[in-house]
Amino acid sequence: MSAPTKPEVKELNPVDFIQLQQYIEYCSLKVKDVLREFDADGRLARHRHGECINEEGFGLFLKTYLEVEDFPVDLCQRLFRSFQNAESAQAERSKEVFLKDVSCYFSLLEDGQPRDKLEFAFRLYDRDGNGVLDSSEVDRIIAQMMHAAEYLDWDVSELKPVLKDMMTAIDADSSGTVSLEEWVEGGMNNVPLLVLLGLKVTQKDGQHLWRMKHFNKPVYCNVCQSMLLGLRKQGLCCSCCKYTVHGRCANRNPAPCTRTYVKAKKDTGVPAHEWVSGNCESRKCDRCQKKIRSYQGLTGKHCVWCHTMRHDECAEKEPTECTCGSLRDHILPPWAIYPVIKERQNIVKNGCSSSTDDSDLNTTPDGQVLQISPVPNTHPLLVFVNPKSGGKQGERVLRKLQYLLNPRQVYNLSNGGPGPGLSFFRNLQDYRILVCGGDGTVGWILDAIDKANMTVRPPVAVLPLGTGNDLARCLRWGGGYDGEDLSRILRDIEGSSQLLMDRWSVQVISDESDEKGDPVPYEIINNYFSIGVDASIAHRFHTMREKHPQKFNSRMKNKLWYFEFATSETISASCKKLSESLSIECCGTSLDLSSSSLEGIAILNIPSMHGGSNLWGETKKADAKGTTSQEEPEVIVNPEILKVTAQDLSDRRLEVVGLEGAMEMGQIYTGLKSAVRLAKTSQIIIRTKKALPMQIDGEPWMQRPCTIQITHKNQACMLMAPQTKSGFFASK
Ligand SMILES: [Zn+2]
Ligand SMILES: [Zn+2]
Ligand SMILES: [Zn+2]
Ligand SMILES: [Zn+2]
Repeated sequence: MSAPTKPEVKELNPVDFIQLQQYIEYCSLKVKDVLREFDADGRLARHRHGECINEEGFGLFLKTYLEVEDFPVDLCQRLFRSFQNAESAQAERSKEVFLKDVSCYFSLLEDGQPRDKLEFAFRLYDRDGNGVLDSSEVDRIIAQMMHAAEYLDWDVSELKPVLKDMMTAIDADSSGTVSLEEWVEGGMNNVPLLVLLGLKVTQKDGQHLWRMKHFNKPVYCNVCQSMLLGLRKQGLCCSCCKYTVHGRCANRNPAPCTRTYVKAKKDTGVPAHEWVSGNCESRKCDRCQKKIRSYQGLTGKHCVWCHTMRHDECAEKEPTECTCGSLRDHILPPWAIYPVIKERQNIVKNGCSSSTDDSDLNTTPDGQVLQISPVPNTHPLLVFVNPKSGGKQGERVLRKLQYLLNPRQVYNLSNGGPGPGLSFFRNLQDYRILVCGGDGTVGWILDAIDKANMTVRPPVAVLPLGTGNDLARCLRWGGGYDGEDLSRILRDIEGSSQLLMDRWSVQVISDESDEKGDPVPYEIINNYFSIGVDASIAHRFHTMREKHPQKFNSRMKNKLWYFEFATSETISASCKKLSESLSIECCGTSLDLSSSSLEGIAILNIPSMHGGSNLWGETKKADAKGTTSQEEPEVIVNPEILKVTAQDLSDRRLEVVGLEGAMEMGQIYTGLKSAVRLAKTSQIIIRTKKALPMQIDGEPWMQRPCTIQITHKNQACMLMAPQTKSGFFASK
């Protein structure tokens, strides 16, 4: 049995959506920028015919917006057809679509605040700019909203009546027209619409963190108590407490979300379950140990904090203390957070002035400042999630951690960076940090910890998102999160051990200060630094990924691309005879580079590069024994001693290796070989005589002649995953 299809609409298939989604994830332009190109003086003006564009113009819109040269022709065709709605099909130019429909659709899908999206859509359709839309124009916006909702896998049969209701409510005077103010006001009070527009929720107590969800089993609405119906059993579900409602019921004053803090200091330290009704079918009751059976309705209660389930009547009896369950060590329960009555402070964040929304997690809706009174013998976890890491994975991880922990301890780095989280936790003596993101995100947090001048420097664990992630690999957290059970990973964090990791300052001083060149990406090295052939590969790789995102979707492909670059003939040409273009001094000792034909130099802090390649190579443990970091000299250049010297990320030393050429790079990337060991040193000065490609922690740039100084900065406290992890992280 197949889903009913409307014959006149050539629908996009699910694979199309996924493909389009991947393109949109990588695009950095905004629809309104592309739209400008279709203005009279724009680059694409000649493709616009009045209000419309033809298929060629549509193709150019996509190419410009998504920044790709070779967008698949068939996908472009199907997308184009999906914009040929009934209205334009009847129009004379049936071979064209309305530019504003296209713009409205894509702007609904891009990142941004709902208020801005509502206003953008309004202005798009308010042709004469008189500030009011008639009902047919509003219908067209709604049509594009439904279109976007389909793309996001919503069952629009549920959304349509909600939007219709909203329109009736907005046009209170039945004038048939809607003003901008009415439109935005109406939209901002419509919960399902806000969820569709990607509302970035600012956490207020009692406000659910809604998202659209499909269920594969019968689920009942917490508001009207009836079942979620329809083919895909769709509803809005709160990420924090799992309260679930029909789209239409979300506007009908649902019960508030769970409390995330207590009212006053005297209420702290009193652990109590927080019960939410429903969806406990066939699970065992924690009190009477009997199965919780469904009687066609909301069944049982589950506790938001410890996640135990009980019969409704069992939840009322014997109020026991909530233990917070198996994640007790990490959870900051509501009874550990209380407000203090004082003026909300304007906390100055690192580097950026305080904006209005960034410390909402730390204050009550009426402006009282929240403080932590931690539960004894726990190590509350301060979580930072970079939602932009690893495609949509960052958002998924954010949501799941908001459920497993208290949303007040889970910070979205897109909302004001790490400042608010660090300042909320800064008076705690014993806590841990979890960074969910790539190596770059980890570096960001370590910098913020440096700058925050904290009395206690908390240890940092990593949940690696995206690809690469060499630092996470070295700390045994794996190269990339693949959707494993997060509570198991949290338990691994509980069993992890602390380790100090060196961090290095890098200073690049150009010879000619007036010459303009690429900016140096970082001032600190956490992972590695390289010059020459390796960096030029990274540089090309970086440029290619920007231009052709579709080719870089899987980790496997990333590896293949490296290999392809590494073995290409032309690459190494610019780095031939590198030893003539630079000199290296390690603690005053010049390295002799003349004997080998080096095309690249890499300086390593950690034993992994470009997603798991080990350039220094293994050193047998037995050989390295006997030399502790105290006894080790400031610099070692003797090849015989280097041979038995192991790499270590907390020895206050850097490893210097030489790379002989492109072919060798290919072998190193595929693990067939390691590089030539040149030195182990606590300080380096490099002087270059010509422009060379360089990279720090995977970020490449082209650097004109310069002097580079690398010195030890400090050591960061990191968490190393337990050797035998309960998770499924494979080493590679
Ligand atoms: Zn309902
Ligand atoms: Zn909730
Ligand atoms: Zn509980
Ligand atoms: Zn029971």
